[in-house]
Amino acid sequence: MARADTRLIHGKHRTEKWDYDHHVIPPITASTAFRLDSADRGQQGFVDFANPKAAARAMNPIYIYDRLDEPTVGMLEDLVREAEGGECAVAFACGMAAISASLMVTGRAGSNVVAHRTMYGCTFSLMSNWMPRFGLSARFVDASDRGALLAAVDEKTRAVYLETPANPTMECLDLAAIRSTLADVNARRGPKDQVVVIVDNTFATPWGQRPLSLGADIVVASLTKNVGGFGIDLGGMVVAPERFLKSFRGYRKDFGGVLPPHSAWNFMVYGLPTLPIRLARQMESAAKVSAFLEAHPRVARVSWPGLESFPWKEVAKRQLVDPEGRFCPGSMIYFEVAGDLDESRARCARVVDHIAENAYSVTLAVSLGMTKTLIEAPGLMTHSALDACTQSVAGIHPGGIRLSLGLEAADDVIADLAAALDRC
Ligand SMILES: *Cc1c(COP(=O)(O)O)cnc(C)c1O
Repeated sequence: MARADTRLIHGKHRTEKWDYDHHVIPPITASTAFRLDSADRGQQGFVDFANPKAAARAMNPIYIYDRLDEPTVGMLEDLVREAEGGECAVAFACGMAAISASLMVTGRAGSNVVAHRTMYGCTFSLMSNWMPRFGLSARFVDASDRGALLAAVDEKTRAVYLETPANPTMECLDLAAIRSTLADVNARRGPKDQVVVIVDNTFATPWGQRPLSLGADIVVASLTKNVGGFGIDLGGMVVAPERFLKSFRGYRKDFGGVLPPHSAWNFMVYGLPTLPIRLARQMESAAKVSAFLEAHPRVARVSWPGLESFPWKEVAKRQLVDPEGRFCPGSMIYFEVAGDLDESRARCARVVDHIAENAYSVTLAVSLGMTKTLIEAPGLMTHSALDACTQSVAGIHPGGIRLSLGLEAADDVIADLAAALDRC
C-alpha cells in the first residue's frame, strides 16, 4: 500500500461511488436529486439508506437526494475516513454542524456530557446555552485530573468531549489515560450504554494526529481550517464506528447541515493532497516564530508543542505524530504578553491593533490553518462566549494571543511581530 501522503493525493483511485476511471481529477456533481429508473429502484434506495452497512457493499449505490447521500461528498468521506483510520465518516456543512451532530446523536434528554474545560468558544456556547434547552447538560472539568473526571461521570453520562491540542492554549490531553479512567465505568455498562470519547481533531488534522488510534471513539473536525487550508470553504466531518453510521446519516437527513459538493471537491482536490507539505512549511515557521517569541522580553509564556518548555511535551510527543511516526507539533502558537493582568490585557490589544494597522504578512482575523498567517486575541474574540472567570479556569489569559502560521517566509512574520511587540 502506498504511503499516507500519496494516498491523500490519489485516494482509493477507483470508487464504487461513481464511475470516473478516466478522470485524473475526480468529477464534481451539481444535481440535488437523482433519476430513479423505477419505483422499485426508488424504494430500494430508501431501504439502502436505512441500512447503510448493507448498502456500502453494493457496487452501484442508489442516490436519491443530496441531503441523504451525494457522490462527490461520498468520495471526500472515504478519503477522510481513511486518513483518520475510522470505520465510517459523515460530512457536514461546517465544524459546528459536525460537533452538534456528535452531541445530539450520542445524547438523550436527561443525559449529560462531561467536557474538558478548555475548548473552542462556539462549542462551549452550544453546550452551555443550547443543549440545556433540550434537557442535555454539560459538565466542565479538568479532564487531565482522573479524580475530577470520575467524579463528574455518572449513570446519565453518555459522552466525554475533548479537544487536544485545545483551542487556544494548546493543552494536550492524554487520551490513553482518559480511556483507561473510563474503562471501569464502561465495564459496568452494556454495549449500547458505553460512555463514548469524542475528540475534536481540528487543530492537529488527521495528518498530525489520529485520535481513534489513541483511545477516542468519535472524531469531529472542522475542515474549514487546515484540512481546507486555503480559507475558501466551510466544512465539517464526523468519523465514527460503523454502529453510528445510520444515526449520523439519519441526523443529517432530518436536521440538515449538508456539505455542498463544490466544497467537498475543493477539500479533496486542493486541501487534503497539499496538507502534508503545507503543514511541513507551517511547522518550520512555527519553530522559528516560537523561538523568537520565547526570547522576546515582552512575552511571558509561549505554548507550542515543539518547544522544550511546552508543559505537555511528553503527551504531545506521543500523540502528535504523522502517519510515518514523525513528531508533528503543528502550526498553532499561543503566547501571553508580559505584565500583570491589566497591563498584559492592554498590551495584547496594542499588539493586535498595531498588526491590524501596519503588518503586511500577519492578518488580524479569526479562523486558522490557512496560507496566510492569522493573529487574534482569544479572550476578546473567539473565546468571548466564556466569561472572565470561565476563561481563567480554562487557562485563557487576558493577554493571550493565538497565532496560526501560514506559508509566508518566517522572517517576514517575525519582522511584523517584532514591530508590534517593540511598540506595545
Ligand atoms: C473553527 C473550529 C470549530 C468550528 O468549525 P466551523 O467549521 O467554523 O464550524 C470547531 N472546533 C475548533 C477547534 C475550531 O477551531
